[in-house]
Amino acid sequence: MNRKLFAIFGNPVSHSISPLMHNYALRGLGIDGCYTRYRLENGEKLKEKFLSLQLSAINITVPHKESAYAACDVIRGIANEIKAVNTIVNANGKLIGYNTDAPGFLKSALSFGKISSVAILGAGGTAKALAAIFRENNIAVTIINRSEGRLHFFKERGYSTMTWDAYTPFSCDLVVNTTSAGLEEAALPAPEEMMEKLFSNTKYAIDVIYNKETPFLQLAKEKNIPAKDGSEMLLYQGVIAFNHFFDNQYEEDEIEKWMRKAFS
Ligand code: NDP
Repeated sequence: MNRKLFAIFGNPVSHSISPLMHNYALRGLGIDGCYTRYRLENGEKLKEKFLSLQLSAINITVPHKESAYAACDVIRGIANEIKAVNTIVNANGKLIGYNTDAPGFLKSALSFGKISSVAILGAGGTAKALAAIFRENNIAVTIINRSEGRLHFFKERGYSTMTWDAYTPFSCDLVVNTTSAGLEEAALPAPEEMMEKLFSNTKYAIDVIYNKETPFLQLAKEKNIPAKDGSEMLLYQGVIAFNHFFDNQYEEDEIEKWMRKAFS
């Protein structure tokens, strides 16, 4: 069988735009392949399902990125640090795992210009991935979270951290919202007074939430700060994943050109 099959595993997964992005790229590049979605309930079954469906490679979304990490035979790159995998390639029965969310985000952030310091709002899975890639690129990171609990992970690894209560203003090049505030309800990711101070001391802002003008992005706009949502991160993680699927044989710009059609 020459036709290659790909999928995104997640739960829920029906909203995912990944099939559209990857199918545009497959078609545009003239590859005999098809990318579908699979709702996986039990993360422990990930490897079994992947192999029994005879897939060449998969992407993994919430809530299975940690299970995907555990299912791999080999972990490459920054995923070793993050301990979460969103891309797995089947190399002759061996599962090779990568994290492309982090480099995808970095590419999106660096398109603003030079970044030397970042404030990350939130301390969940996305914050872990971004902190790791920033550190790897010698960018100073401060994690700000509403509560103490999740900050321990970052403290243990030597990151600068603060809760809302402990916040004192500092300058940075970029403020990133990795909380889910703004996703369901119109809420800022931190008290308004604190957001005002953060935006008065930064050059750029990114919200990882995509396809939505969140209160975070609205406030950045009011303050005339160049800002963007998470669509580019989503696009670039897909471009980098696609290149892992095909052993880097395509130009990133060419893949991006086709995948962008999914956003128009
Ligand atoms: P997690 O559930 O792992 O972490 C959530 C974090 O947000 C916690 O630190 C939590 O604080 C904080 N938080 C939640 N609600 C609020 C609130 N109302 N106000 C302030 N802080 C809050 O989430 P993930 O890291 O997995 O995902 C976060 C976001 O990233 C989601 O919106 C997701 O859609 C988006 N995302 C986008 C991607 C893209 O490609 N663009 C890729 C991956 C994720 P506390 O510890 O106090 O509870």
